[in-house]
Amino acid sequence: MLKKRGKLIVISGPSGCGKGTVIKKLSEKIPFWLSVSDTTREIRDGEIPGVNYNYLKNDEFLSKVNAGLMLEHAAYSGRAGKITYYGTPKPPVSAHLEAGENVLLEIEVQGAGQIKKALPEAILIFIMPPSMEELEARLTGRGTEKPEDIKTRLETAKTEIALADSFDYIVENDRVDVCVEKLVEIITK
Ligand code: ADP
Ligand code: 5GP
Repeated sequence: MLKKRGKLIVISGPSGCGKGTVIKKLSEKIPFWLSVSDTTREIRDGEIPGVNYNYLKNDEFLSKVNAGLMLEHAAYSGRAGKITYYGTPKPPVSAHLEAGENVLLEIEVQGAGQIKKALPEAILIFIMPPSMEELEARLTGRGTEKPEDIKTRLETAKTEIALADSFDYIVENDRVDVCVEKLVEIITK
């Protein structure tokens, strides 16, 4: 008998809204395979290559795109305005879905739109911060970006929030546990 394909779940939302935090908690509640993205951004303190991201040079990234090896990819404003690429490698996602596992992608909104076009059965969830003030406080509190990069991320957040209605679900991340419960409900229903 053919194995039932897993569900493809896409979690997006502005940088600093708490995606990483809620996904970690979610992994304690339900099983899924978390895709490891490729990126051209610099590694942050505490990140591990192959676990948080695969860190590639621009030409390596673009040759993977040209070879059709990315399910989606996007340019995102990186440090000091430098263009940074992020993308989801296709082969591992296909393999895990075919093996019947749920697959979760944590990606920004342009990439989410590409996923919905390519795979309409994907479940798109937008994580909404309680307010712009709280988003700024979370980004500042995380302390991983310089003030000018936080400013760029907050500008990008406005255009991302404007696209939230194109998602299947919008879930506010006010309290982490409440947000995670809502995600469990959406994914398991
Ligand atoms: P993202 O992955 O969306 O960029 P993170 O998960 O890194 O965001 O969260 C950004 C910062 O906000 C972190 O310091 C995290 O601890 C904090 N945070 C996340 N969710 C909440 C919440 N519900 N309430 C308060 N702080 C939060
Ligand atoms: P960060 O630099 O904070 O890790 O990520 C910046 C933004 O890139 C976040 O919104 C994150 O969700 C997004 N991102 C991470 N991986 C991917 C990916 O593979 N594709 C796309 N389109 N966005 C990604």
